[in-house]
Amino acid sequence: MALLIDLFAARKDNIGYLVHDVATGKTAAIDAPDFDAIEQALARRGWALSDIFITHHHTDHVEALQPLKRKYGVTVTGPRAEADKIPGLDVLVAGGDGVTLGESDFYVIDTPGHTLGHLVYYDPTGRRLFSADTLFSLGVGRIFEGKPEDMWAALVLIRSLPDDTLIFCGHEYTLDNAAFASTVDPDNVALKMRATEVKRMRAAGQFTVPVSLALEKATNPFLRADQPALREAMALPPGTGPAEVFAALRAAKDVFKP
Ligand code: ZN
Ligand code: FE
Repeated sequence: MALLIDLFAARKDNIGYLVHDVATGKTAAIDAPDFDAIEQALARRGWALSDIFITHHHTDHVEALQPLKRKYGVTVTGPRAEADKIPGLDVLVAGGDGVTLGESDFYVIDTPGHTLGHLVYYDPTGRRLFSADTLFSLGVGRIFEGKPEDMWAALVLIRSLPDDTLIFCGHEYTLDNAAFASTVDPDNVALKMRATEVKRMRAAGQFTVPVSLALEKATNPFLRADQPALREAMALPPGTGPAEVFAALRAAKDVFKP
């Protein structure tokens, strides 16, 4: 059966998501960034919150967890590897586990890097990936806890999902990401077109997500770290492995000023 998705602005630049299983009425928030924003989205849709799926322990993804739990008595699912950092988890999961919302199933993928226990939720029926702070449009999350090679391996796994998978990420960072991407992949025509589109969408107050995995594979420099153009942009010699190119790209982005 079908899932409906509601996406909304939360905090400064988080994107909040409600996922609604039509058959049963069960509704999950993907992360808990912002109590008021989630309440407003629920009211607007007339949905009742039953679950929260947490991706990682950062405050901007868990701050509303306890208030929502007190008010709705929801079931909270989250990363086993970060259970000690996230009070209130009821169901602990890791990569390879399934998560059920009514009649809909999600598949959990481990994506260490941004945090060590970061995980993402994939809906194989609707082909949707809730990628939080691992994969953004035209970018990836900052590496706070993991190793670049582990994050690269996780991205390679994500890259193997169907091309028509829709990416729902945790932040609206696409405009800034486009500025960096354009400096390291200046001859990429698909990127130029996407950057123009992103400018127009943001000027019109629109979100730039969801975006297809196919478009990200063509435009996101961090998913293209195994392309010679990106290795050359990082001034690394032929034969340099993609994980090393990825690490160099991430380090360059860390100090990039748009
Ligand atoms: Zn984060
Ligand atoms: Fe975040």
